[in-house]
Amino acid sequence: CLYGTQPSVQTEDSKYIGFKGHDIITPFTTRWQCTNENPLVIERSEGSYVYDTNGRKYLDSLAGLWCTSLGGNEPRLVAAATKQLNTLPFYHSFWNHTNMPSLDLAKELIEMFTARKMGKVFYTNSGSEANDTQVKLVWYYNNALGRPKKKKFIARSLAYHGSTLIAASLTGLTGMHQQFDIPAPFALHTDCPHYWRYHFPGETEEEFSTRLAKNLEDLILKEGPETIAAFIAEPVMGAGGAILPPTTYFEKIQAVLKKYDILFIADEVICAFGRLGAMFGCDKYNIKPDLVSLAKALSSAYMPIGAVLVSPEISDVIHSQSDKLGSFAHGFTYSGHPTACAVALETLKIYKERNIVEQVNRISPRFQDGIKAFSDSPIIGEIRGTGLVSGTDFVDNKSPNNPFPKEWGVGAYFGSECRKNGLIVRAAGDNITMAPPFIISPQEVDEITSIYGKALKATEERVKELKAQ
Ligand code: PMP
Repeated sequence: CLYGTQPSVQTEDSKYIGFKGHDIITPFTTRWQCTNENPLVIERSEGSYVYDTNGRKYLDSLAGLWCTSLGGNEPRLVAAATKQLNTLPFYHSFWNHTNMPSLDLAKELIEMFTARKMGKVFYTNSGSEANDTQVKLVWYYNNALGRPKKKKFIARSLAYHGSTLIAASLTGLTGMHQQFDIPAPFALHTDCPHYWRYHFPGETEEEFSTRLAKNLEDLILKEGPETIAAFIAEPVMGAGGAILPPTTYFEKIQAVLKKYDILFIADEVICAFGRLGAMFGCDKYNIKPDLVSLAKALSSAYMPIGAVLVSPEISDVIHSQSDKLGSFAHGFTYSGHPTACAVALETLKIYKERNIVEQVNRISPRFQDGIKAFSDSPIIGEIRGTGLVSGTDFVDNKSPNNPFPKEWGVGAYFGSECRKNGLIVRAAGDNITMAPPFIISPQEVDEITSIYGKALKATEERVKELKAQ
């Protein structure tokens, strides 16, 4: 499974032994896991740690799914939710109704996003819904402008944009397409900017970026620029393996998009609010997007909420509406949910008060240097990262052209060794990613590094054994 196969630790004392056939279809769970494993049932969280039903403690280096940025028990978020639940737990935002927390949050988000001026906010419950909404906003916009052919989207191989049908079509992980008759025909994919994996011998990062921008332009010309509506990209690709943009990549890509009047959608679902050591990925890589998707750390995951930031050019068209099209006929019961918005507002307040970007920048060198110190391992091809995101690729002989046999399960073995030693990482094939909470302490970073090192040693031994067989 491309999105993340986590082997569970099997314990004799598991309260949930015998729960293999439990009643939930758990996402992205393999048949092997369903039939052979007991679920890991997490009961409680505290700071950077989670505890299972046996009281076993795990340092969660993935912050849930890259989202519990303020850790597991931030009392101010609980208080904000409680206060709102006691005042107005819910009201909808259809037909020009709204509520104060959603108004205040929109104002705050527009103020915070300074990479370019944004016009309005559309609320969703998740990152997937935010990206589905992007497609509808762009289609509405082009229909209203009398450009009905300008409908195709270009995303990138190995991108992750969500699980709903449209977001999964934009996603560039083929394992998420085959089962569901997608991608939809309007979703095209261009190169993944993974320099280490895909550069030609002797090609510099900048030359690699030039080649990728040229390939993008070729694709646009082949399809017809009048048919391409938007390009969507994560500033740093998360689920694809913590892939950082090579030097000058976004500069060159944006120049091509500008030339052909193609919108830029920044999927900041993972990157926003400090994860990369800047408030937004767009700030870090000088991206001037037309639309932005947000979720996850927006509420530190304490409530499900996502949002789309919409440029004034697009929001003006939606606002003034087209006579032909009528109102923007899209929305969710829980769009602008007051309790979710109140928690998100409090989350943003905490980021500001604690200067979260500075906090991430203070801790991240210890995290990055600590993990990168293992780069020489014979089973590691590359360790990369920035801020509080880290990716490791396991390969043989340091070369991206020498993957380990799939059936060896090298990444899964490493993940399982980490878990045995009390560390949760994300193992997707032979790629390991980590994205700890922003509140992680120096001691906890050292604990990650120490367990990573221990698990790596065990995995090196395992590979030696497998090679000898
Ligand atoms: N975009 C990106 C970049 C993501 O990483 C994710 C989730 N991992 C999504 C969109 C989808 O978000 P959700 O799971 O909240 O629908």
